[in-house]
Amino acid sequence: MNERAWEYVIVGGGIYGVATAWHLASAGGEVLVLEGRTVASGASGGLGKRGVRANGRDLRELPLMRAAYEVWPTLEADLGHPTGWERVGHLRLYERHHDVGAARARAWAQGEAGIETYHLDRSGVREIEPGLSDVVLGALHCPNDGVADHSATTAGYAAQAREAGVVIREGAVVSAVEVTGGRAATVVLAGGERITVRGDLLLLNNTGVAPLVSASFGRSLPVWKIFPQAMCTDPVAEPPFSSLFGHAHRPLALKMVPGGAVMASGGWRGRWNPERGEGEALPDAVRGNWAEAVRVFPVLEDLEPRVARADRAESACVDDIPIIDRLPEASNVIVGTGWSGHGWAIAPAAAPLIAQWAREGGDAPGPLRPFRLGRFMSRR
Ligand SMILES: Cc1cc2nc3c(=O)[nH]c(=O)nc-3n(C[C@H](O)[C@H](O)[C@H](O)COP(=O)(O)OP(=O)(O)OC[C@H]3O[C@@H](n4cnc5c(N)ncnc54)[C@H](O)[C@@H]3O)c2cc1C
Repeated sequence: MNERAWEYVIVGGGIYGVATAWHLASAGGEVLVLEGRTVASGASGGLGKRGVRANGRDLRELPLMRAAYEVWPTLEADLGHPTGWERVGHLRLYERHHDVGAARARAWAQGEAGIETYHLDRSGVREIEPGLSDVVLGALHCPNDGVADHSATTAGYAAQAREAGVVIREGAVVSAVEVTGGRAATVVLAGGERITVRGDLLLLNNTGVAPLVSASFGRSLPVWKIFPQAMCTDPVAEPPFSSLFGHAHRPLALKMVPGGAVMASGGWRGRWNPERGEGEALPDAVRGNWAEAVRVFPVLEDLEPRVARADRAESACVDDIPIIDRLPEASNVIVGTGWSGHGWAIAPAAAPLIAQWAREGGDAPGPLRPFRLGRFMSRR
């Protein structure tokens, strides 16, 4: 039995859990993080790098992304740990004539949201990336977008959190939350240990949020588990491109990763393998993802992925943006889930706001308001 009552208990040792913990502890909070496996063993770790992009992002996430632009350049110095962040620029390619109007409209909307965006025609995009296939008609360019090393950044946040006094317990699986008088009072671990919550309980355990909320509060959330696929080639002698890429209609993301390998991802999924107890990449999806890459960069035809993984589970939400809110059933519980494959880049801006909300109570900070649970309850 653990007799201590914690001011803040956070479930999940991914980027959201450890970054929020750091911000709370830096403001004087007493914080316990409960991580079921190890720090960065979920979506915040694994193969390659993550895209830090505003381009093509849901418009409701752009205020957070604009704030994240301010954080990423100095994060390495702030954490005293490597983040692998590089501002390489993002190109969102299009190949179809009917995508020109949408590209113009998106360039306008992103610009209005404070995201520097240029609409490039056929020759403009080739000035940046001469190796593109003839099929590419143009692109939206966000020069402030980039990439970062997710595993290193998460480890850096965790180290800083510990330094600030946060206790991070690994191998601590939370199986239930008990509610007393409309507040979460106790967290129960899989082994039966009970932990008392004095202030707020933050459920930042990504794919684990929905099952816990359902079991402990009887509330369903419109989120589900996915296994995004990512793959890398061997290092190449001459990098075929330098930007980060997305595509208007192909499920494709491309980036160069340290050591000179090409990484492809962008929406292809793996599946859960019950025998191995982890997500696995599927041969058809690997071939499909690579075929999309070759379509826009013909030089990639001579290469092939050396490693393909789908071992990092992510939570997807029905409207493709996260849920960040207090639970109606327990006013001291904040949940963050449903990141839908793009929660990484905004984390350094969202985590301090989640911490602020936990500290100050009241209404959600402005940039978090689009992610309220209430958006699914308009008829009630
Ligand atoms: C392959 C892939 C590519 C991606 N690419 C991008 C990208 O390019 N750009 C971008 O912005 N985003 C990207 N994302 C999304 C981004 O990585 C995630 O949205 C983000 O890392 C989520 O962080 P998190 O802290 O919420 O979750 P996680 O890192 O998954 O952390 C949650 C933690 O909670 C723990 N946990 C779960 N249940 C329990 C429990 N009951 N008790 C205790 N602990 C528990 C887990 O072990 C895990 O460590 C990608 C995701 C994947 C998988």
